[in-house]
Amino acid sequence: MGTRTSVAERMIWHGLIIIALTALTQIGGIAWGLALLLRMAFGRFLLSFLVVYLGLTVVAHYTAPLAGREPLPCLDAGPNQIAVLNPLYCALNRHYVNPEMKAHADALAAHMHESFPGTRTRALDASFPFIDGFAMLPHLSHDDGNKLDLAFYYTDQSGEYRLGQTKSFIGYWGFEQPGPGDPQPCASDTGISLRWDVAWAQPYLRDWPLDAARTGEALRWLAENPVGSDYKIFVEPYLAERLGVSSDAIRFQGCSAARHDDHIHLEFTTG
Ligand SMILES: [Zn+2]
Repeated sequence: MGTRTSVAERMIWHGLIIIALTALTQIGGIAWGLALLLRMAFGRFLLSFLVVYLGLTVVAHYTAPLAGREPLPCLDAGPNQIAVLNPLYCALNRHYVNPEMKAHADALAAHMHESFPGTRTRALDASFPFIDGFAMLPHLSHDDGNKLDLAFYYTDQSGEYRLGQTKSFIGYWGFEQPGPGDPQPCASDTGISLRWDVAWAQPYLRDWPLDAARTGEALRWLAENPVGSDYKIFVEPYLAERLGVSSDAIRFQGCSAARHDDHIHLEFTTG
């Protein structure tokens, strides 16, 4: 005899899925809820969800600027513009920034292309399209269009620059490692923390060295060209030192936040 799912159980499951989709994509939870309503009228739940989600994603693309946020390009937009590393960021609606951040990131991309012709600068998580204070998992702070994560630059094993590619397909989790003499401020920290090492993913990552010349240049340019107020760059202190960049703008994010030796976090306040 098969087990029957009660209405209450189903409601709980749908509730959990709506919460998860909202935390990961902002509009996904609404799409799930609308698809449940549409199923009553037309059936075909999954198709309804995909159509509604795609529709809302397109609507967000065109209406977010009215709320002060711009979508970053989802595909390569030439060397003088930043673009997301993987179109997945756009599919999940995690690629919105305020216009000042977009301009600053484009200026970085242009500078990198000027310093190392042909270089592409890539963005990772930014913010959702709407509502200040609406944080995206797993970040603590990407909640207002004022924060942007930037991918490191890499070479392959032969030392050849890999255009717009990183160790992992999402740009995160390809951690550099502190050396024997490097400070490790979180080594003895045992509190609750998002400082994951993501050990399970490490065997699947590309075995590429960090492009220290490009990554160092990007970090140096960001540090020397602050905009807005409260301008901050998060990168692990040992890595900034290894890349030869020192600046008051470069901060340590603390031991409870994610590691920052797989990407650069940039934030500033506008207005
Ligand atoms: Zn960040």
